[in-house]
Amino acid sequence: MSTVLATARNPYDITLENFDLAADTLELEDDIRAMLRHPERVLIVNIPIRMDNGRIRRFEGYRVQHNTARGPAKGGIRYHPDVTVDEVKALATWMTWKCAVVNIPFGGGKGGVACNPKELSHGEIERLTRRYASGILPLIGPEQDIPAPDVYTKPQIMAWIMDTYSMTKGYSVPGVVTGKPVSLGGSLGRNEATGRGVFYAIQSACEHLRLPLKGTKVVVQGFGNAGSVAAHLLDTHQCYVIAVSDSRGCIYNKDGLDIPKLMLHKEKTGTVAGFPASEPISPRQLFALECDILIPAALENAIDEDNAPSIKANIIAEAANGPCTPEADKVLEAKGCFLIPDILCNAGGVTVSYFEWVQDVQHLFWEAQDVYNRLERVMRTSFNDVLKFHLDRKVSMR
Ligand code: NAD
Repeated sequence: MSTVLATARNPYDITLENFDLAADTLELEDDIRAMLRHPERVLIVNIPIRMDNGRIRRFEGYRVQHNTARGPAKGGIRYHPDVTVDEVKALATWMTWKCAVVNIPFGGGKGGVACNPKELSHGEIERLTRRYASGILPLIGPEQDIPAPDVYTKPQIMAWIMDTYSMTKGYSVPGVVTGKPVSLGGSLGRNEATGRGVFYAIQSACEHLRLPLKGTKVVVQGFGNAGSVAAHLLDTHQCYVIAVSDSRGCIYNKDGLDIPKLMLHKEKTGTVAGFPASEPISPRQLFALECDILIPAALENAIDEDNAPSIKANIIAEAANGPCTPEADKVLEAKGCFLIPDILCNAGGVTVSYFEWVQDVQHLFWEAQDVYNRLERVMRTSFNDVLKFHLDRKVSMR
């Protein structure tokens, strides 16, 4: 069932609204603006698959390359019932800006299939993935366009895409996807890279604001890959993660949740709901909690003009892509919240994807600590670049 409200704003309209603001600040010429307002390629694929009950069901998938001036298109693949071509266009555009912010030699791409993986069997997901991969085959390749995981897609799905692509070549091509299992040429540290990057960005923000990290209260919306890893690292640095949520529930404990145990609970039950030593709260209450750091780590438009006025956090760290609407940005800026925008905050994922691709094409693999050290350097440098621009030009962090 769709979870998008009928009133939710089109993410691509929001992308263009923010782009126009940035283009005004940069005094970008009209010709360049026109070029960058449109993706280079948009592919829509029909995905008929045989379901376990013998029937054929049709799904629709997309792959968008927004801009490849800086290198191959790079961006994840999302499996979610609310995926639309406009959402994928928005996500691909953000990938162009994100790769430029962290200065890696990739352009922006993204893919998605409108489906509910929670209702599909393992075999159905494999058939869907392989059919989608063969549909987007003309676009992807290690030098052209390199997919990765996003919402509800995991290393196993990347392995199926890699295998489908490799079958057509006659040899194994690990560099066609990132975020794949380590045994197939994946990078150590890729699975937790997005959350780890979010953590480094938060550390940098706390240093800038002279807010000691230890003892801060943290709220996380979306306890998936990005959100749970960020929560875990903050927990190990003596922060109190007082509330988290997922698509099935929100939980709260004023003294801090036991994050390692919560991760096991989510693995076992599929949700954070029902975790012992916590009380259920509503999504509205979650956003309104007294806390220092709020991490939206789920989907677009989570924070809008309706719930932004109740937010009390000092720092908003956008682990998700596009979690704040432009209307919410204005409210949060007026309140003096410090924003770490998505294209900076969650860039750890694509940064380690780049490291993975580099390792694949060189056939030379790095130790986990090497990956972490390089990621920390990239995140801290990029944070300082963005902060400097924000302070020098007196523009918002976004
Ligand atoms: P994921 O599938 O691992 O987790 C998503 C989580 O969000 C799940 O726990 C789900 O239950 C929860 N969720 C969904 N709808 C929700 C709602 N309405 N309220 C609360 N929780 C909800 O996905 P992920 O990879 O962690 O991606 C999360 C966000 O991070 C997305 O915006 C994604 O684009 C962004 N991101 C991910 C990566 C990556 O490497 N995985 C990189 C950059 C950005």
